[in-house]
This record gives sequence, structure tokens and C-alpha cells, in this order.
Amino acid sequence: MNYLIAGPCAAETHEQVMQTAAALKGYADIFRAGIWKPRTSPDTFQGIGDEGLKWLQEVKATTGMDVATEVSTPEQVHQALAAGIDYLWIGARSSANPILVQHVADAIATSAQTPKGVWVKNPVNEDAELWAGNIHRLLEAQTSSHPFAIWAIHRGCNHHPCWRMAHRLRMLCPNIPLVMDPSHMSGKSDHIASLCCAAQTLGYEGLMTEVHICPAEAWSDAQQQITPQAWCDILHQLPGLAQPDDRELLWLRKEIDEVDERLWDALADRMEVCRQIGQHKREKHLPVVQPDRYQFILERRLEWAKQQGLDPQTVGEIMHLIHNESIRVQS
Ligand code: PEP
Ligand code: MN
Repeated sequence: MNYLIAGPCAAETHEQVMQTAAALKGYADIFRAGIWKPRTSPDTFQGIGDEGLKWLQEVKATTGMDVATEVSTPEQVHQALAAGIDYLWIGARSSANPILVQHVADAIATSAQTPKGVWVKNPVNEDAELWAGNIHRLLEAQTSSHPFAIWAIHRGCNHHPCWRMAHRLRMLCPNIPLVMDPSHMSGKSDHIASLCCAAQTLGYEGLMTEVHICPAEAWSDAQQQITPQAWCDILHQLPGLAQPDDRELLWLRKEIDEVDERLWDALADRMEVCRQIGQHKREKHLPVVQPDRYQFILERRLEWAKQQGLDPQTVGEIMHLIHNESIRVQS
């Protein structure tokens, strides 16, 4: 891994920031901590605000690590850069809004200070084109100012990796280093080690992981933060990098695993609806099997199959199996 980024989801107290940073010295190149947090609900911790900039400056001075924080407005860009923050990142919620990203990019381009780098997270929705478009906005900002590094951070959507989106981004932006954020990708601390291993074999260039001195007491994202010790253990256990020739196949296998997972989810959803239909039919004394309705369903599904370039015979057989299972579930 070329880039190791670690630190708490949010800077909470001076003590929490300094203790986490001290424990990470030697195990991260860049210390991350959000100080202005774009949270889903206004009732949750919104970040410590400007005061956190001083704590990040102290981390830099005492540990020698570079420091990074999230920015969502031009004002935050100017404040962070004036405070000597080395790296800025654009979060997933901001990344869903290209106008906001453009404002942030313009602020970076016109700021008196230049960051060492800017990271662009994937948007909260699964949209590789929007992610790539945001990166292009930053690339343009870069040409009109001093150069800074631009990395893409893959954090997934709704706690799913969305491998296809990241695979596509690698094709759209082949020269942009791809960094994985396993914390937001899974939302669960016990999934982080296996995602870090996957990042290594797939050829990611870095990891950005949420590490907190006491995850159970974190003010945000408590369930996905890990201790500094757990982070060190993960780093020691990272596997070797797969050969470049094999990596493409590994990416495609990640995609197919995820497609199958969605198929299974869809199947489980279908059976749940069938259970509700069964209950309804029982109450109304209706027969479980209604041949006209099945004929209608089959014809529509075969039509969809044709439109999607799928083999009608295969789809017919699959539909037959699904229908039999639906009858069993309704009975
Ligand atoms: C974060 O990194 O703390 C964060 C808020 O991430 P995201 O934008 O990916 O949700
Ligand atoms: Mn977080």
C-alpha cells in the first residue's frame, strides 16, 4: 500500500485526537479527522468545528504525520488551507452534488495555499460517471493553480462496496490512484480486515480507515471504528499483491459475487411478497394457483428477457422454478 490514512471519524476532544494520533504514529502516513461533519440527521454530532483545526495542527507538530479533513464549502477550504491542513477530502454526500463540488474546486484553485492533495469520495448513489466528473472538476482546478495530488476514495453505497462502480472508475480515470475506505464501505468494524485484504489483492493504492482510541465511545460511526491495535494487526496481516495479469479477473469476480448477492436479495424479497399474497388469498378464500395470472407473468418476463438479450428458454426455466417456490411459500 502506498498510502495509509487512519484516524477517527470525527475529532471529538483534544484528548481523543491526541491519544489516537500518538497510537497511530508509525502506522499511518496521514491522520484523518472530520471537524465539519455533513451528517444525515441534524440531531447527531455535527463536528467540533474550527477548534479542531488547532488539534490537527498539534497532531502534525507532535507526530510528524500529515493531516486531513473533510471540506464541503469554500469557506471550509480557505480555513483548512490557512491552518496548514495537508489534504482535503470531498465526502460522499457532497460528491452527489456537482455544483457544490465545483464551488469547492474553485475555492482550492483560488486559495493562497495549495494542499498536498484532494481526495474525492464516490457519491452516496452508485454513479461512476458522477464520481469521475467530480475528479475532472478537481483536475481542472489543478491546472489553474499549483499541482496537488488527486486520489479517488471508494467508500461504497449503503454499506455495499459496489465493485462495478469502482471498476468502472478505474477505466474512466486510469491515472487517478484508488484508495479504499473500508469503514464506510461496510459500516461494521468486523468486516474491515477482509476488505483491507481485498483492497491489497485488487491493487488499491491506499486505505483510509476510521480508527478511534475507544470506538465504543465514539460520537459518530461507533460501530465501524476500530482501535489502533486492531489497525496495526490488519496491516501486519495484509496479503501479497496479486499479479497484474490476475487482477482483472479478481475485479470481475468481485462484481459477480455482488450481482449474485443482489439476485438472492431480490429472490428473498419476492418470497416475502408471496407470503403476504398467500395470507391475503387465504383470508379471501382465493385459490393459490391462478393459471391466467401465471400465463400473464410468464409472457411479460419472456418479453423482458428478449429486451435484455437473455435466452428465453433459460429465463422460462428459471421462471418455472421461481413460480413453483412461490406456490410452496403461499400454500
Ligand atoms: C467520513 O469519512 O467521515 C465521512 C463522513 O465519509 P463519507 O462522506 O464517505 O460518508
Ligand atoms: Mn465516518
